[in-house]
Amino acid sequence: MKKNNEGNFRTFWFKYSDYELKEIDEFTYITPKEASKVTMYDPFDVADEILVDILMVGRYVEKDALDLAADGIMKFVKKYGLLGELTYLPLNTDILKQDKVYLPIGNLVCDKETMSTSEYIKLFLKCEKKQKVIIKENAKGEIIELSVENEANPLAIVDRPGEYAVVFSRAYSECLVWIMHYARTLYQTFEAIENYNKVEDAYTKQMYDNIIRNFNPSKIACRVLMGNKKEDLPILEWNFNSLKLAIDTMFALNETSDRRTVKMCKHCGKPFASDNLKAEYCSPQCRNQANVYKSRAKNK
Ligand SMILES: [Zn+2]
Repeated sequence: MKKNNEGNFRTFWFKYSDYELKEIDEFTYITPKEASKVTMYDPFDVADEILVDILMVGRYVEKDALDLAADGIMKFVKKYGLLGELTYLPLNTDILKQDKVYLPIGNLVCDKETMSTSEYIKLFLKCEKKQKVIIKENAKGEIIELSVENEANPLAIVDRPGEYAVVFSRAYSECLVWIMHYARTLYQTFEAIENYNKVEDAYTKQMYDNIIRNFNPSKIACRVLMGNKKEDLPILEWNFNSLKLAIDTMFALNETSDRRTVKMCKHCGKPFASDNLKAEYCSPQCRNQANVYKSRAKNK
């Protein structure tokens, strides 16, 4: 998915310079390191890299290579930040005012479909940190204040509701298995779409249909910004609720474009990115091997 080919749009996300793993209640969490630095970037500037990296993680999970997957996730979050599950998951959008979250059935974050917003936010604050998130509640358990203790709060420069301050804080964490599960689901969808027209049997086709139908990102908001100069095109600014939703969107744009730049290698099946729209193989090695197989098959 190439930004310039797809239109004039942008979004933003925050990442920290370093992350660490913490074991809490038998789960592994990923969280920014205390001394790490926060920076803002536009995920669309690196869309192809993000897609290839998350799909590679998903491929490792799919092939049960969990150590490689965990390693890939650490590299991923250092490059792009955590996914923003806190703001991605709820089915309702104004979770602070509504004081309640509604969650999809069978979600991995908790086994409930509804819970109070403060209880929900605490699921992402399991790691003890110097930077404190302050959640003040009234007698009814409604949140009257949500703020993040400040050293240069990233949220100060963007117009977002208070729960984003938590997502962008150093106290925020996500569980390793949530990210593994997401990467795997995305990889399975990728595989289904890429292989769809190659399979003949009705069973596999049906299975692919189900996987593709289940890929259903929602809640994408956007606005139009006028350019600074006369000759500038208006900019479509996406208000993604999370990096995860931005990835869903990049993925959907990539898979439905006739200028698709992220593909599955025809020989080894690995996801790869190429500006050459005709490229079918991830490497010269794969292309050569595929040619060897082809000529052997011909000679038989
Ligand atoms: Zn290959």
